[in-house]
Amino acid sequence: MARTALRLSENVSGPFFVDESCIDCAVCRHLDPAVFARSPRGLSFVARQPAAPEERTRALMALVACPTSSIGTDPKMDASAGVAAFPEPLGEGVYSCGFTAESSFGAWSYLIARADGNVLVDSPRAAEPLLSRLSELGGVRHMFLTHRDDVADHAALQRRFGCERVLHERDVTPVTRDVERKWAGDDPVPLAADLLAIPVPGHTAGSAVLLYRETVLFTGDHLMADEDDGLLHAARDVCWYSWEEQTRSMERLLDVRFEWVLPGHGGGYRAASAAAMRREIERVVAEMRRS
Ligand code: SF4
Repeated sequence: MARTALRLSENVSGPFFVDESCIDCAVCRHLDPAVFARSPRGLSFVARQPAAPEERTRALMALVACPTSSIGTDPKMDASAGVAAFPEPLGEGVYSCGFTAESSFGAWSYLIARADGNVLVDSPRAAEPLLSRLSELGGVRHMFLTHRDDVADHAALQRRFGCERVLHERDVTPVTRDVERKWAGDDPVPLAADLLAIPVPGHTAGSAVLLYRETVLFTGDHLMADEDDGLLHAARDVCWYSWEEQTRSMERLLDVRFEWVLPGHGGGYRAASAAAMRREIERVVAEMRRS
């Protein structure tokens, strides 16, 4: 719970505040850039207090999504509107789960609602209000883990929903040794007619992206939009395995049709068409080769 005694001096006066426990995961800034901003010392702060009820709900969504409970209100405010807003529908039957976990540094997770069984992409925090809503939406049949870092509360989710967890074998660690499906190799693997797992080694050896309906690409930590310029980038400073491999993996995405990137961290990016997305990926590849 955020503590008023640790309230950052950068916060504007008013009920919402961020305290010193912020880890700069950027979740709040992506959820509500009208209210939250990044200070020169690299922490989030409340730059403007929300005014209208819908603005307050958005700020409360950031409060419940924050992985470290670093956002608070004084006086204490009922956060139920923020809780009820997750999973947040994004379109194409895809929801953002919010409720991020500190162990995955505030990584996003997503629910794909499908007639053949819902899919979680990466794991959220196992918060009961979210789990109840996931049950109402039909539960979880599969959990696709993009890589070793963002697995959060995967075991608790598996116990609750009995889902099959899917992780590339190169990224299996002691905490994920019990995942139900460990896949292998460097070729794309169809998980269903509308789901294709694509290996993208680089960020980690077993990183993978998930293509849904040739439209949405869930990219984990392989590719994300930057909060400053809004364009897609790969992050060399968090490349744990091989930048050269990651560049080659990015290049192979030029042969994949998709229009919308939903990442583990950072912002999403929706192109006007698959052709426009391909041009954006070409730019990213060129940028990676230069760096
Ligand atoms: S969501 Fe929480 S931890 Fe992340 S940047 Fe915002 S205040 Fe900091």
